[in-house]
Amino acid sequence: MQNAESSGENLYSPIRIPKSAIGRTLEPSTPWTLLFIMARKQLTYCGYCGTPYERRDLEGRTRLYCPACHEVRYENPVPAAIALVLNEQRQLLLGKRKNDPQRGHWCLPGGFIELGESMEQAALRELKEETGLEGTIVSFVDCFYQESRFYGSLIIFGYLIDITAGEMQADDDLEEVRFFALDELPALAFESHQKLVEQLKEKLRSEKSTP
Ligand SMILES: [Zn+2]
Repeated sequence: MQNAESSGENLYSPIRIPKSAIGRTLEPSTPWTLLFIMARKQLTYCGYCGTPYERRDLEGRTRLYCPACHEVRYENPVPAAIALVLNEQRQLLLGKRKNDPQRGHWCLPGGFIELGESMEQAALRELKEETGLEGTIVSFVDCFYQESRFYGSLIIFGYLIDITAGEMQADDDLEEVRFFALDELPALAFESHQKLVEQLKEKLRSEKSTP
């Protein structure tokens, strides 16, 4: 599968990452994970008082620590919600990305969860923003951890959604939206999306075989 954030060579990262490593789904604590994390922009100053952070070994990890106000900066994965939408012909809704990462590649609609929002609300909101379609949650599909060179550590929640209203039109991060037959999908921009689609297919197969 040609995936990888291959269009991402114009980034600001000070460390060159081999193309073969880019875009892979990575287990936490592998050397690649560390390389990705090191390659991203780093927080430099305490958000409370502006003092330069120090790196200290705390609770078994190296963490950012403010020597002036003694705040530890805890860094966590960013959660994202993804919409898996099937039409009556059981075709899957995909969008073509307008921006990097992976501009021009197809992906599932979705985006980051905002404060005060549930994963389900975020999936429905992102679907509406990017495709114009409104829906209801049918079921949770799966969730995955992924390192992104753009966004750092992500946790991605996938939901199967039924469309209830709206006019389909690409918007926000997408330049085109259309349905694809499940056995004729293009290579997806992100491995986490690919894995969600595999899980969805598995779910549909098991539903079919259950009387
Ligand atoms: Zn401080």
